[in-house]
Amino acid sequence: MKKTLAALLLLGMPALALAKLPVVASFSIIADMTREIGGDRVEVVSLVGPDQDAHVFQPSPADIKKVSAAKVLVVNGLGLEGWMSRLDKAANFRGVTVVASKGIKTRQAPEEEHAEGDHDHDHGDVDPHAWHDPSRVQTYIRNISAGLIQADPAGKAEYQRRASEYAAKVQALDDWAKQQFASVPAAKRKMLTSHDAFGYLGEHYQLQVLAIQGVSTESEASAKGVAQLTRQVRNEHVKAVFMENMTDARLLKQLSTEAKVQIGGKLYADALSGPKGPAASYLQLMRYNVETIMKSFR
Ligand SMILES: [Zn+2]
Repeated sequence: MKKTLAALLLLGMPALALAKLPVVASFSIIADMTREIGGDRVEVVSLVGPDQDAHVFQPSPADIKKVSAAKVLVVNGLGLEGWMSRLDKAANFRGVTVVASKGIKTRQAPEEEHAEGDHDHDHGDVDPHAWHDPSRVQTYIRNISAGLIQADPAGKAEYQRRASEYAAKVQALDDWAKQQFASVPAAKRKMLTSHDAFGYLGEHYQLQVLAIQGVSTESEASAKGVAQLTRQVRNEHVKAVFMENMTDARLLKQLSTEAKVQIGGKLYADALSGPKGPAASYLQLMRYNVETIMKSFR
């Protein structure tokens, strides 16, 4: 009898050790951060995939199932995932919700970015794209780590160790990026993108960032706004103009033709690239974006 019990226990052990904490992240960038911190203890699924737009995502019945099965749900917050509250209600989610941006100093979007006649819109929307500032990502790391520990206290030491290793890498990236941008005169640090996703990057590294659309890809650019921007790009000699990996580039291409500036490539804004692309992780995304912007500044 004793023998059988011991055998059963032995059989049961590996299965127990392999059971990973099921985590759902809202989009690819924070899914990657969560994998870095969770390591082998977690199984992370991202709802919005690589090169997809998290602003306008429409959850499917399969996504409801994923959230139902999760013990931890990691979101950015700050209004990025407007579709999430309906989704976690539909999924009857009862696990730990981590708002990765909780506690950061937020950036307000400037009023003039709103389309004309858009008076229903609250002016001064909060900008959700805080991941483009590595110093704010330190808060993301602490929040995600705390959420994983809450859901899986047995992994506390490992989550803390991995979180501090990852935080050091993000700090090194930040130091490197500061050096890069500091080598360009402040007056030359001007760039333009499709939607206003790089405000935190601009604030942190003192770049002037212009955008055709506001902080959500749902907002519409007005003809007058585009004409004004075209003039500004021409008059102020803005040389750094970039497409984004998850938005339509037609307006940007039109503007660059009219302002006679070359498009300096593609930045990874609200999503990672696929696994074979140049921005398959958050650290790669930041490095790629900084290098791409620096090429145009030089
Ligand atoms: Zn965005």
